Amino acid sequence: MTQAPADEERPNQPERSPRIGLVSLGCPKALVDSERIVTRLRAEGYELSPSYEGADAVVVNTCGFLNSAKEESLQAIGEALAENGRVIVTGCLGVEADRIRDQYPDVLAITGPQAYDAVVEAVHEAVPRAHDPFMDLVPPQGVRFTPRHYAYLKISEGCNHACSFCIIPHLRGPLKSRPLSDVMREAERLVAAGVQELLVISQDTSAYGLDLGYAPSAWGGRTCETRFTDLAEALGSLGVWVRLHYVYPYPHVDGVLPLMADGRVLPYLDIPFQHASPRVLKAMRRPAHQEKTLQRLADWRASCPELAVRSTFIVGFPGESDEDFEALLEWLSAARLARVGCFKYEDVDGAPANALPDQVPAAVKEERYARLMAHQQAISAEILEGRVGETLEVIVDDVDAEGAIARSHWDAPEIDGNVFIDEAAGLQPGDRVMVTVTDASEYDLWARPVRRPACADESAA
Ligand code: SF4
Repeated sequence: MTQAPADEERPNQPERSPRIGLVSLGCPKALVDSERIVTRLRAEGYELSPSYEGADAVVVNTCGFLNSAKEESLQAIGEALAENGRVIVTGCLGVEADRIRDQYPDVLAITGPQAYDAVVEAVHEAVPRAHDPFMDLVPPQGVRFTPRHYAYLKISEGCNHACSFCIIPHLRGPLKSRPLSDVMREAERLVAAGVQELLVISQDTSAYGLDLGYAPSAWGGRTCETRFTDLAEALGSLGVWVRLHYVYPYPHVDGVLPLMADGRVLPYLDIPFQHASPRVLKAMRRPAHQEKTLQRLADWRASCPELAVRSTFIVGFPGESDEDFEALLEWLSAARLARVGCFKYEDVDGAPANALPDQVPAAVKEERYARLMAHQQAISAEILEGRVGETLEVIVDDVDAEGAIARSHWDAPEIDGNVFIDEAAGLQPGDRVMVTVTDASEYDLWARPVRRPACADESAA
């Protein structure tokens, strides 16, 4: 067992810095993990305590390699709880969170190996950092470029696929998911800072947690798994809009439809289908290219009739024939997607698709692009016309002298449509209000706020 050394006396240290104890068990890799955790904590102004009694909380970095090592780790957790009482468990045994919780239900948090961010977050939660005028220039929710009321929440980096037109796996490496507890703590900070809409992003949101073996992750007093549906459910409990982007139509995605039907997650899925012709999808090496997507869409709509699906498509991919393109238009007619974006294929340096034969001439790409957009415009106009007269919840993005610009459950910021509200008195960005739709175009809606009857206001007063 390695016990963390005490800090030397430093005359300029601010008074009452929080103090963390650390018990490090196991192999050199675990020791390096401990060093990294301590480095992060020290950089944030925490001091190290050489004794249990002097610590505000204790981190136990466990080993789970052999049964005897697991036993030793469990004993160390028990000792830290008995001596200090405020214990955060990390390291290899952390993947057996249920076993630890069964024996020690009072541990504050459990994270797995190399989950540095999650451990440090758990320490922040257990023992808040001391105020530091230099470090505290950055707000707790971080610096964001989005308006105050919505925020992007990145849940993983990289991608395990090898789409022939894409170099992202080459640039960013394979899928690397953040532990669920880490994502949730960021989400909670954002909500506490006034965010009303969380936009979940990654390269492949539905693959979330695969690289971590769907490791257990403690959040909200329970153990979740680091996987797509658990994350959607946890985010859906925060009381704000949750919008899922970059989802692939794998069978397990079915699991979020009940959350959408219950109103816990927005009934919106952003699925980059890219094409519908099996031949083109195969040449693109798309994930889930063998899925029966129309049947899946029908099943999802049966579970959640309000579901809106947005997607993007590429026209003019090398080898795309007239038949392939007609198949795509037919598929769009059948799929009736709410929102569609389209790109004309371009070579990307380093992408395997550059070497494919039968490149499509620029004029043909242009014509197919125009036809697809016009085709989808008619579908979109029909869908939106059907909304006239409905009462919807919208979120207000902007208010000016002419009224308010808002979005419905089916509109992501920047990429989808808007809901324009002429009578905007009293509305502010970030407000979530009920409106009645009065008019529609191909992409946007117009609406007026649903006013409460005067007697309701009086009785409330
Ligand atoms: S396009 Fe394909 S390879 Fe590129 S990030 Fe998306 S799923 Fe991964």
